[in-house]
Amino acid sequence: KSHSQPTSISKVRVIIRIRPFLHQEISSRNGNPISCVSLQELESSGDEVTVLLKDQETSRNECYKLDAFFGQDDNNVSQIFEREVKPLIPGIFEGYNATVFAYGATGSGKTYTMQGSDQIPGLMPLAISNILSMCKSTGNTVAISYYEIYLDKCYDLLEPKEKEIMVWNDKNGLMHLKGLAQVEVDSFTKFQEIFSFGLQRRKVAHTGLNDVSSRSHGVLVIMVKTPSDDNVDNVVTGKLNLIDLAGNEDNRRTCNEGIRLQESAKINQSLFALSNVIYALNNNMPRIPYRESKLTRILQDSLGGTSRALMVACLNPGEYQESVHTVSLAARSRHV
Ligand code: ADP
Ligand code: MG
Repeated sequence: KSHSQPTSISKVRVIIRIRPFLHQEISSRNGNPISCVSLQELESSGDEVTVLLKDQETSRNECYKLDAFFGQDDNNVSQIFEREVKPLIPGIFEGYNATVFAYGATGSGKTYTMQGSDQIPGLMPLAISNILSMCKSTGNTVAISYYEIYLDKCYDLLEPKEKEIMVWNDKNGLMHLKGLAQVEVDSFTKFQEIFSFGLQRRKVAHTGLNDVSSRSHGVLVIMVKTPSDDNVDNVVTGKLNLIDLAGNEDNRRTCNEGIRLQESAKINQSLFALSNVIYALNNNMPRIPYRESKLTRILQDSLGGTSRALMVACLNPGEYQESVHTVSLAARSRHV
């Protein structure tokens, strides 16, 4: 049995979260959601959990191994924060970068997990609160950037007008986002103000297209800085990237055409590139294929090396096939 072998520690943790059914999903089916995915923990050994994904309607089922799983509990975002994200934060103050991704189909709860709502904060506001409160004792300062990657191009969301950001590598091989805005944030209120500006930008960006926010990757960067003597060039000590990935739609099911097809081709390509990078890192491969997409290229300094990363695969409890698609890619990238 494979469980008796010692499991190596994955460098990118891969966890899954299944959201509860929504009121409207229950009422529209007279209390009986048509397809119902159940996720059951079969066994957990050390740092690995085996889950069974099952369609209650047809009894089809699949088994996967992951690092952790969070069930249909209303509270699961705060649990993910406490157990998975909070432990990454002290490292940011010591110079280690970290990245958290929400991955899954549209409607699976990625935005809910990352942003949350006014009543229930997601991982982004929870992280900023925690970092700001740590700064009180360490004397560090915080700045944020917020950008999106759409059709493999990077756009600043903290600028009032559409502004494409170029990615370049300096002679030391370090990656830079040329001219990306960094806004200092010294309170939670200030964060909310800046972030809601960016969210608004994201909704109206790309003239002529409908809301593309679920078809682009949204990246919030929280930078912890150490004040320098001149107080002008505060140096970035470490950063946390919090990413609401574009939905991994299955084209065969959604019958995409035209711009939709072009978008989903780019999305699938970048999600596949991301999964390949994570796989290569988790399996100690000599070459990590960062250059295969804009997303992985940008994240090169925050994925691998001394950085820590977490992928949260999000599942919709009413979509079995889609959930299989998500979990299999998640489990495939984790494979060690
Ligand atoms: P995505 O960003 O993956 O497309 P959303 O985050 O928009 O998905 O979630 C889809 C719907 O499910 C939204 O209406 C959201 O409010 C709701 N939702 C997600 N997770 C939960 C949860 N834990 N509790 C209640 N509602 C949730
Ligand atoms: Mg979303």
